[in-house]
Amino acid sequence: MFGNISVRWKLTVIIMVTTSVALLLACTVMIMYDVVSTRRATEHDLAALADMLGQNSTAALTFADSQAGTEILAALRAEPRVTSACLYNHNGVVFATYLRPDLSLPFVPPAARTVGAYIEKGHLKQFRRIELAGEQIGFIFLESDMQDAYQRLQRFLIVMMAVLLAASAVAYLMALRLQKVISRPVIDLLDTAKAVSGSGNYGLRATASTKDELGLLVCQFNEMLEQIERRDCELQQHGEDLESQVATRTTELVTVNNQLKSAKEAAESASRAKGEFLANMSHEIRTPINGILGMAELVLDTELTPEQREYLLMLKSSGDSLLGLINDILDFSKIESGKLELEKIEFNLYDSLAEVVRAMAVRAHEKQLELAYQHRLGVPEYVIGDPTRLRQILTNLIGNAIKFTRQGEVVVTVGRTSLTAGELELRFDVCDTGIGIAAEKQNLIFEAFAQADASTTRSFGGTGLGLAISSRLTHLLGGSIWLESVVGQGSRFHFTARFGASSKRSGGPSPGEERLASRSIIIVDDNVTSRAALVDLALAWDMNVTSLESGEAALAFMRSARQAGTPIDFALVDAEMPGMSGYDLGEAIEQEHLAKAVILMLPITSQARDATHYRKLGSVSRLLKPIRRSELLDAMVSALEGAQRATSAALLPPRHAGPNGKSLQILVVEDTPVNQLLLVRMLEKMGHAATVAGNGKEALELLHKQSFDLIFMDVQMPEMDGFTATRKIREQEKESARHIPIVAMTAHAMKGDKDRCLEAGMDDYVAKPASGRDIAHAIVRMFPETAESPAPVRSIGWKPAQALEQLDGDENLLREIATIFFDEAPKLLARLREGIGAHNSELVERTAHSLKGQLAYLGATSASQKSRELEDIGHRGEFTRAARVLEELEKEIAAVIEGMRQAVQS
Ligand code: ADP
Repeated sequence: MFGNISVRWKLTVIIMVTTSVALLLACTVMIMYDVVSTRRATEHDLAALADMLGQNSTAALTFADSQAGTEILAALRAEPRVTSACLYNHNGVVFATYLRPDLSLPFVPPAARTVGAYIEKGHLKQFRRIELAGEQIGFIFLESDMQDAYQRLQRFLIVMMAVLLAASAVAYLMALRLQKVISRPVIDLLDTAKAVSGSGNYGLRATASTKDELGLLVCQFNEMLEQIERRDCELQQHGEDLESQVATRTTELVTVNNQLKSAKEAAESASRAKGEFLANMSHEIRTPINGILGMAELVLDTELTPEQREYLLMLKSSGDSLLGLINDILDFSKIESGKLELEKIEFNLYDSLAEVVRAMAVRAHEKQLELAYQHRLGVPEYVIGDPTRLRQILTNLIGNAIKFTRQGEVVVTVGRTSLTAGELELRFDVCDTGIGIAAEKQNLIFEAFAQADASTTRSFGGTGLGLAISSRLTHLLGGSIWLESVVGQGSRFHFTARFGASSKRSGGPSPGEERLASRSIIIVDDNVTSRAALVDLALAWDMNVTSLESGEAALAFMRSARQAGTPIDFALVDAEMPGMSGYDLGEAIEQEHLAKAVILMLPITSQARDATHYRKLGSVSRLLKPIRRSELLDAMVSALEGAQRATSAALLPPRHAGPNGKSLQILVVEDTPVNQLLLVRMLEKMGHAATVAGNGKEALELLHKQSFDLIFMDVQMPEMDGFTATRKIREQEKESARHIPIVAMTAHAMKGDKDRCLEAGMDDYVAKPASGRDIAHAIVRMFPETAESPAPVRSIGWKPAQALEQLDGDENLLREIATIFFDEAPKLLARLREGIGAHNSELVERTAHSLKGQLAYLGATSASQKSRELEDIGHRGEFTRAARVLEELEKEIAAVIEGMRQAVQS
């Protein structure tokens, strides 16, 4: 309680309590003193009275006159304070008594006792000795009621109380005034502190009116305020400084930001400009190359001297590598600027791989290198992804492996690393026994334009772009690329890529494979790797496999097998082996009937050499290395069926596919004279009529005069470009309700170009430089009915010149092959008819494949193309168009045979 009251009251209370206690103490002491002194005085008076009465009573006591004694005592009436008295003789026997008359109580005198005074029941009692001549003759007793003393004390107390009250009142008034000396500065200080904290104004000050501790306290408080105020000021100053600094920095940042933004915009527009530049450049460069290559192709189709042909072939191959180089640079730029579009289509992985390896085989075999490939278990035949980009990576890695390997082998392996729902990751390994790459260069070579050997005396050409492109492509395909290499021992490049899983499956062994089960095969090859790959393949078909590395050993083994009564079914023989060659082995097997069928594996480059053996080994099947699974299967199944031979078709890709039926009126809108001529010739060769317009405007004028079935439209042209021309054509068509198919031709080949073309109203898109085949495909896409309609067979079914070229100019050989083909063709056609009738897709695919190869070998490109169409039909299992295509093929083959007969006769 006391702690909570204000200082003013505290001080007042303290003063009052102190004053009151002091006064009370003083009064008490005074009262006590008065009580004691009053009692002494009364005792003294009573003793004097008793002594006086005792003196007066001596006679009465001596004479034992109690009457006289009583009278003497009666004189006490004059002393009202004495209430009773008694006289005793010397024996202590009561002699006379006195009781104040107003007291009626019977008086019982106390027993005589020793002299002295004492207080009992508020009465003062006194015993005194009575002596006479020094001898005690009796006692006297007096009792006083002390009334006086009590009344005096009462009065005294009243006065004291009055004094106390008056003094307290005065003290209170004084305390009220005096406490201000202390409380006022404190309250002042408090008020100032409240004002400061309330207003936050540290400029306020408390006033110090004294110089004591309170004054000092106020001074200290003021000083503290001053310090805070100073600090506040400094803080404010700092704050202002900071704010101005922040403002400056912000302005600087805004400026830098703006600069960055404009720099970014500039960079973006520069990059756009670079893209445009690249597109234009590629157009500008590819267009003349297109002209050169196309013209070279056209000239190659004419009669030439061997020398001219050789020069032209060189010209074409240089052009091809130039085009490859430009494509590399364009690809790299496209990837770098994020403009590369990936395809997502279902494709046959085995075939893609085989095609790449086959295409590279020429270079490998030229260098006498062994090139083999194999797929491990679990690699599906069909996957979904971008076959072109996969081929591009593989081509580059295999190309490098061949380029940097002087002797030994290059082996490509595909395996599966993971398979999750709908997605699988494949791992490809390309291993060589070449020069290898030093450890410190291994990371560097994936950079653009980097080469392990950067010296000017390099023995291998190249731009250093291949691996940079491959590395970026693998990343785009969701994988990665890395290598292991030891200098002098070889390199192993590995890359992974992700593909969509295809629902299409090989679905167990095909009927062909089933027929091979438990048959015996001997594989003769001096190269361990390719032998192992073939053994794997044969084992996968459940065959009984024996593999040997030399012709001599194989011959011995087969002889003993025949003697043991278990002759070998198939002999798969590498044509070129040290010691006994495959040709000799094949001949020996044929002569001694050691096996049911012999299949020779030829390096691509030995085809010309093979021609000299051809006659001797008439019934031997020939397959190009590296062996394609489907071709080997085909060859063995054909051998079982009694067909005489099977041959690889890979070396001679069909030239172009054009609808051989209806002749179309085609408008070619193109500004470059070379391209105009090239396209017109190509179209004419396909049997179409072509008209040329130099730009969009001319095209519109021509369209007013004449009607066309199809337009090939260049995109970049002077006066009016392809987009504008197409838009105008489409506008005009709105009235007539006609729609002329327009196929864009552009060298841009950039992401988004296709969309731009389609947006402008074009129907299709051909990237430049377009080969005859691309053009033909585009026409078929626009006019499928022309492809399906029964076409009048054209006389150009067969080219003896081209066939002779394949056979090294050996006319006799051509005659022999032709004779075989006359026999073979009807059988194969019959099988095709049977397959189509029974909807047996595998039979159709396989037979069409064989036919395609043979026709290509004979230079009958158009018929070969038809067979390829049938092969596709068989592959897809869609038979709607099959009968028509077969009909066309039959007509074409009839024309080819007719042409051959004439040639053979002449
Ligand atoms: P290019 O072959 O056009 O020079 P690449 O990017 O394909 O460019 O290869 C870069 C470099 O990596 C090559 O120049 C070569 O030094 C090295 N290299 C690539 N593959 C191999 C390989 N299989 N063996 C040895 N060196 C290789």
